Amino acid sequence: MTKQEYIQIGRDSMKHNHNMQLYARQKRMQKRLTKMLEQAANDLVAALTELAEAFRKAAEKMRVVKMKYSDLYVSQMPTSVTWECPHCGMENELSYTEFCAEYGEPYDWEYTKATCPRCGETYCLGNQEWE
Ligand SMILES: [Zn+2]
Repeated sequence: MTKQEYIQIGRDSMKHNHNMQLYARQKRMQKRLTKMLEQAANDLVAALTELAEAFRKAAEKMRVVKMKYSDLYVSQMPTSVTWECPHCGMENELSYTEFCAEYGEPYDWEYTKATCPRCGETYCLGNQEWE
């Protein structure tokens, strides 16, 4: 081979090497890009799912707002009665059942007399406040 041919082989070899490096870099870039695209697609799907759920909830709310409403009435059981002696301020508490046994039914309570066990004074049961 001539000197010129050797030089040519050397140049080709270098060129080939360079091309291989370029190819490898290109492959890596492609892989990275694919990964980024997949991530972006996943994020997009998640965002769209969230948006669809928000729309569904808003539509449900609109549907409910348009409906007729009914007020609620809750019946409650009386549990206890508390009151204070108007003379000495002694606080008293009886269960509703005990209070009724002692002073009768609610419509009998007003003007019913009670005697304070602490100061011994007598007083009248007054207004009822139901809570
Ligand atoms: Zn008293």
